[in-house]
Amino acid sequence: MKRCKFCGKPIDGPADFCDHDCAESYRHVTEEEQKKVKFFIAGMLAGFLVMLAGVLFLSDAVIALGILFMGGVVIAFPFTTPETNALLGCQKARVLGRALGVLLVAVALWMWLF
Ligand SMILES: [Zn+2]
Repeated sequence: MKRCKFCGKPIDGPADFCDHDCAESYRHVTEEEQKKVKFFIAGMLAGFLVMLAGVLFLSDAVIALGILFMGGVVIAFPFTTPETNALLGCQKARVLGRALGVLLVAVALWMWLF
């Protein structure tokens, strides 16, 4: 069964979207995403390096800071892969992306507190 690429509703026929609005929204979102992807990658890289520094210096607080940073980046830029977009529709995929970010922040806070 085919699904609308934007909202994920099942659709029949050859179209990729259930209506014109979804097609327009999808185009807008993917354009925005292409602009944001470099911030996403830079942010993740920065968070990862901070985490790595924490591992090297055996500092849980620094590791937690790196994870917290990556979580924040994921929440700010819920960049989703074309695969999850195709599977869930890009609205749901973004919610999932944000949920993952919240999870990372929760892990970081947990490391900090315990
Ligand atoms: Zn739709």
